Amino acid sequence: MDGDSRVAEGPVEVLQRWFGHKAFRGRQEEVVRHVVAGGDAVVLFPTGAGKSMCYQVPALCREGTGIVVSPLIALMRDQVEALKQAGVAAAALNSTLSAADAYEVRRDYLSGKLKLLYVTPERLVSEPFLDFLTRGHIALIAIDEAHCVSQWGHDFRPEYMQLSLLADRFPGVPRMALTATADPQTREDLRRRLRLEDAPVFATSFDRPNIRYAIVPKQNPRRQLLDFLSRHEGDSGIIYCLSRKKVEDIAEYLNAHGVRALPYHAGMDRAVRDANQDAFLREEGLALVATIAFGMGVDSPSVRYVAHLDLPGSVEAYYQETGRAGRDGLPSDAWMTYGMADVVQRGRMIDEGEAPAEVKRVERAKLSALLGICETAGCRRQAILAHFGESHPGGCGACDTCLEPVETWDGTEAAQKALSAIYRTGERYGAGYVIEVLRGVESEKIVRNGHHQIKTFGVGSDLDEKVWQSVIRQLAAHGAIVVDHDAYGALTLGETARAILKGERRVQMRKDRVFKAERISQKAT
Ligand code: ADP
Ligand code: ZN
Repeated sequence: MDGDSRVAEGPVEVLQRWFGHKAFRGRQEEVVRHVVAGGDAVVLFPTGAGKSMCYQVPALCREGTGIVVSPLIALMRDQVEALKQAGVAAAALNSTLSAADAYEVRRDYLSGKLKLLYVTPERLVSEPFLDFLTRGHIALIAIDEAHCVSQWGHDFRPEYMQLSLLADRFPGVPRMALTATADPQTREDLRRRLRLEDAPVFATSFDRPNIRYAIVPKQNPRRQLLDFLSRHEGDSGIIYCLSRKKVEDIAEYLNAHGVRALPYHAGMDRAVRDANQDAFLREEGLALVATIAFGMGVDSPSVRYVAHLDLPGSVEAYYQETGRAGRDGLPSDAWMTYGMADVVQRGRMIDEGEAPAEVKRVERAKLSALLGICETAGCRRQAILAHFGESHPGGCGACDTCLEPVETWDGTEAAQKALSAIYRTGERYGAGYVIEVLRGVESEKIVRNGHHQIKTFGVGSDLDEKVWQSVIRQLAAHGAIVVDHDAYGALTLGETARAILKGERRVQMRKDRVFKAERISQKAT
């Protein structure tokens, strides 16, 4: 023993003395006590709930070094910096370290001086490194962002798969998996792959009661955004866009319209980007227009709104991104505008990606789960929580559909018309074309294809274009329409199309609020 007094401290003392927190939150203390006693654990807390304390405190209570597996060097660096500031002996071993620094870290590990050591998964599982670790004393192994091991997670990393070997390699060392992604498939998958089937699961509710959800159909997104922002004068918030170009355009647009905005994306000059991030963290009343490059590890408590001008790829991503609002517990808004073009674009990104077919299938399923939430006529919060395997009675009173209940209409006939138009034009055209056929537009292309002579031509002239867009989006959310991205977003018939066409299945549709209500009630019913 080198007289390290920390070993003798209890969890609460460690929390107070080293981290300056008065008391544990939520289920932190349960986890900490369980791990200090030598148990394995699966920790599923939403972002911001305080997962780090769950392994940092036990690492200081137990003898030896806590090994933390983390996927991103930037995240590691932030954590290590914060720990060092608090006076905790912590280090990260990664490729950016000089040989001399790496030597020092290794020495401190072997001597037992180091309390926390952060490593990437690929380094941890390398043979020489595993050998090295066995020569010292490990207090615990914490696998952060553990959803990365699952193809169901939104951030699959093949390197995580090999972490299963830790169970055999370090028997008797407490192992923990921590993540903010907890849909039932991912949860089971990660327990199995990390050999934590027998470990207790510590989960807390994913509900963020102070966040108000709203998802609106895309009409004129810039105007809609300005309109939304007019309710947030003087507030700070994040506006997510998919592309770098759009980030810059929107930031410029907002500045021109009296909203102070700064862009942030990975393609920007590092110094400018960092300056913009700092300004956002420091100043008030600033809109940060960003790609998802912004957010990881940034924890600004007073974000009053998160706006999405493009559709995220999954419910998990949507939840993570919107979750950056209202960390201080005050009322905040999560607002999104989306349209069929977003669905097509997202689908194309999946199809054009490098992932194997199996992963693409999962990605498509994830996208359609999000569509289901966009198109629900029920409580959004209930739908989001249901996705994470949590039941909520609905009627939350803080989502657009609860605040202003959506009317529904029997869209069976409209659905049949749309599906039939898709079928009769050979399942080869996108939404715009199909809608023109339905509405009887004699465009040059339609006439050239002879589609002005088919039976469904013009059968949908009673509903306007916006209603048809809504019908098609909802059918896509129901799985009756599948977008074929290999064919430039052509609409094809999905699994449930047949039953709808044969009249075996009726379809309730939500009436989008932006339509003049009477337009549908007069004509569609
Ligand atoms: P997560 O990893 O779950 O997203 P973090 O571990 O980064 O969350 O913690 C989020 C924030 O909550 C941090 O600023 C942290 O200091 C703070 N925090 C964690 N536990 C406590 C606690 N018991 N009391 C007060 N603040 C806490
Ligand atoms: Zn609700």
